[in-house]
Amino acid sequence: MSKQHVPIKKNDEIDVIFEDLTHDGKGVAKVDGYPLFVAGVLPGEKAKIKVTKLNKGYGFGSLVELYEKSEFRIEPDCPIFAECGGCQLQHISYEGQLQAKEKQVRDVLGRIGKLENVKVHPVLGMKNPWHYRNKAQVPIGEREGGLVGGFYKQRSHEIIDMEACLIQQEENDEVLQKVKAICGEFGIRAYNEKSHKGTLRHIMIRSGKVTGEIMVVLITRTPDIPNRRKLVERIVSEVPGIKSVVQNVNTKRTNVIFGEQTNVLWGEEFIYDYIGDVKFAISARSFYQVNPDQTKVLYDKALEYAGLSGEETVIDAYCGIGTISLFLAQRANKVYGVEIVPEAIEDAMRNAELNGITNVEFEVGEAEKVIPQWYEQGVQADVLVVDPPRKGCDETLLETIIEMKPKKLVYVSCNPATLARDLRILEDGGYETMQVQPVDMFPHTTHVECVAKLRLKPSP
Ligand code: SAH
Repeated sequence: MSKQHVPIKKNDEIDVIFEDLTHDGKGVAKVDGYPLFVAGVLPGEKAKIKVTKLNKGYGFGSLVELYEKSEFRIEPDCPIFAECGGCQLQHISYEGQLQAKEKQVRDVLGRIGKLENVKVHPVLGMKNPWHYRNKAQVPIGEREGGLVGGFYKQRSHEIIDMEACLIQQEENDEVLQKVKAICGEFGIRAYNEKSHKGTLRHIMIRSGKVTGEIMVVLITRTPDIPNRRKLVERIVSEVPGIKSVVQNVNTKRTNVIFGEQTNVLWGEEFIYDYIGDVKFAISARSFYQVNPDQTKVLYDKALEYAGLSGEETVIDAYCGIGTISLFLAQRANKVYGVEIVPEAIEDAMRNAELNGITNVEFEVGEAEKVIPQWYEQGVQADVLVVDPPRKGCDETLLETIIEMKPKKLVYVSCNPATLARDLRILEDGGYETMQVQPVDMFPHTTHVECVAKLRLKPSP
């Protein structure tokens, strides 16, 4: 296909067979080599589609008629699957989702990382891939005087009320319904984006999977909440397991959910939860993994790949609230963690103390700046773990790793594309990718997490 040649026109209706699924869950069909992306279709399916948009190298279409269904196609369990957009893959059986995610990892490692032969294991999925989220966070609006809360209708700011979310822990849904109803009874007005009036912007519920502790967070436009004392009393009396009611004040005209000021209205500032044996304090604003069961699976794999004997010095780059660091510290001589967000490091230090773990040191800063400093100060890491955000590792950090030459690397990644890019750089710098384990942290969504094990190639 020549670069300019686009073999179809807008509004054409054509028959195609889908070959692949994109990282965001769209089906891919090729017309004379020209790729078309269509939502709601699966690899192997034959369909009539309408061409909706054409770009230079690729286009989009919408489904008109499905002729042949994939063996993996199922009816989505959730009645609002199509409107909500929170899940993208409920029309694929869970087995099909896991296979698609494995293929995606394999393909991207080959295409971007030139790692066609690397060992990629089948995705570690959940036995029960429902009701896994420990955090619910919904915008609040008004309909005929009552409060509604749920999600924004796609491409709009209209709030659709949601009674239950199938990937949410069930108690979170129940608590959310109760809090919504109580706030409504007390005449609390929902925040109105257009007029910048009203009080309640969002409700957030966090729960400890192991401990059953519940935190309710009311995000309000004003510091004042009408009838606050009585309102809080009612919430406390109606929510079993409640340990904390918190207000966050966001006075700004913004899409950002949280504001600067957080006040405890009742109970504790923190709830607690465990991942394995490690206890964590979770505040309204702390980052904490939303699928605690699969987090354990992921970290166990990271620990296995680190292969610790108890003698090692380990660096945990991008350590967040220290989850991986504390996991590793139980099996290492010393762990150093670095993270850019100061509040996360405060949490990490608190969590270390909470567990009586003393062989960890945390520092605030950019991994790419702090780790070279440690290196200059003589810190010799045997194992280095990275768990960067979606954009992957900073290049300076990869260069430092290549210079420091830790024997083992464990790369935890939430984005296979940047993982592939970084593994290529590390391979060229003397490392060998031994194996990659994808883990399904977010069933029914397109996300896939991976852990990769690398070792320094023996010098020839
Ligand atoms: N390992 C943690 C968090 C991983 S998320 C866990 O499993 O819970 C990635 C983290 O990297 C975030 O906490 C983010 O704040 C942090 N981060 C982003 N850029 C960074 C940088 N340049 N240096 C250090 N940390 C960074």
